[in-house]
Amino acid sequence: MAVEPLIFELSQPERRGVRFPAPDVPETPFPDELRRDRLDWPEVSEIDVIRHFTRLSQKNHAIDINIYPLGSCTMKYNPKINEAVARLPGFAELHPYQDEADAQGALELMHELQEMLGEISGFDAVGLQPAAGSQGELTGVLMIRAYHRERGDTARTKILVPDSAHGTNPATAIMAGFEVVTLPSDARGNVDLEAVRSAVGSDTAGLMITNPNTLGLWDEHIREVVDLVHEAGGLVYNDGANFNAILGIARPGDLGIDVMHFNLHKTFSTPHGGGGPGSGPVGVRADLEAYLPGPRVRAVRTEAGSGNGGATDEGVRFEWFQPEKSIGRVHSFHGNFGMHVRAYCYIRMHGAAGLRQVSEDAVLNANYLLARLRDRYEVAYDRTCMHELVLSGSRQKANGVRTLDIAKRLLDFGVHPPTTYFPLIVPESIMIEPTETESKESLDFFVDAMLQIADEAERTPEVVTGAPHRTEFKRLDEVAANRNLNLRWQPARAEQAAAQPKEALAAD
Ligand SMILES: *Cc1c(COP(=O)(O)O)cnc(C)c1O
Repeated sequence: MAVEPLIFELSQPERRGVRFPAPDVPETPFPDELRRDRLDWPEVSEIDVIRHFTRLSQKNHAIDINIYPLGSCTMKYNPKINEAVARLPGFAELHPYQDEADAQGALELMHELQEMLGEISGFDAVGLQPAAGSQGELTGVLMIRAYHRERGDTARTKILVPDSAHGTNPATAIMAGFEVVTLPSDARGNVDLEAVRSAVGSDTAGLMITNPNTLGLWDEHIREVVDLVHEAGGLVYNDGANFNAILGIARPGDLGIDVMHFNLHKTFSTPHGGGGPGSGPVGVRADLEAYLPGPRVRAVRTEAGSGNGGATDEGVRFEWFQPEKSIGRVHSFHGNFGMHVRAYCYIRMHGAAGLRQVSEDAVLNANYLLARLRDRYEVAYDRTCMHELVLSGSRQKANGVRTLDIAKRLLDFGVHPPTTYFPLIVPESIMIEPTETESKESLDFFVDAMLQIADEAERTPEVVTGAPHRTEFKRLDEVAANRNLNLRWQPARAEQAAAQPKEALAAD
């Protein structure tokens, strides 16, 4: 006698969550010509909906459930105060077409966020429009292209990208019409300086570098690398995904970088994963400011005491403007404003000293994991790491246990696995980023799980290769999941619904 679990399709004809009172005006049919399609909504009660979404939420891992050490993604805790502030009606109920004068508080917040991000990173100007790090990259590289074109420098067709880079870097360069030149890493995990020297030339549009890089290492020659590219007439883009390692400690603008993106959903604690939305502002040096996507916000001084309708501060008004040589829009309206509010709240909550402590703790936590794991797992590059560390599962592989198996086994501990098989230059790589928001107990729990898995790989490898044992689904066909993504719910057709088991616990 099998009891069917509750299924996905719960719709029953005429079932409802809400009943409206009878109308006190004449009913008028909705004109058919205004309808794109018949909306085949599910018919469910309130409790059906609540249970459906609560059930779904429990099938996923989340930072609110357990440690999420997904290297390079900075899956830090998202403080709940950010949510409370973003839901304030003055922010949440604004319409993007709202008159500038009625939205002065929102414009002021965006302006202040631009200024604060500029201060933290050492850039002269920041544009908030891009919706993700990768879109920030595209924005930055299109600005580099516009800069060279304006100078008539059309022979610059190549972008240099280190081999440790995230895949979005070469993809961005190609989308922007450039040719990618891959630079090797040296024995200490830096970009190979000799390779930079021989690659740069009059055809170099720029270099995209990630510093600290995806090996979790600070590039020891960053100044020389930047200078070499500049001497050849190119510009330097910094992929800011790893900014969490250096807040209040080093500023990319001071290192001579020309453009950089921030991932607000990584470094600045706005929600990450689950489909977004993200935010990837771009910081630039003064000579690139005019190319930023528009509209942007600026502060304008008004005559003191004059009635400046809607101004929040006496003598200052905020307004939209279009940068003179803007590459254009990269997002509708003004970017993901709700994320700007959350990041603003996070920065203000920490202050300068607090942000520095964020990075110091993130680096400390990563080095603690490195110290506790290094005897049992190969370390890719034997150096003090920054906010993340890269191990290799090559020792376990000798026993037939691959990094993929280690990742699957971690699921049995309720832990989200680290990033695996990236960076590509480390065989069987395991890239771990604990973030500053994990306690010592939670770090120890993760280490103990990793050490137990190392033991199992030696003594009972089948426990690891057969994992996960405790999750609802075991090993999925990951190729099919990638190639045949099906993310869109569509109403079940009547005949399909009829063919499904009934909603209640049907016993057979
Ligand atoms: C996350 C990440 C990106 C892309 O950022 P998104 O916001 O996910 O588009 C680029 N580079 C590195 C190193 C990253 O970790």
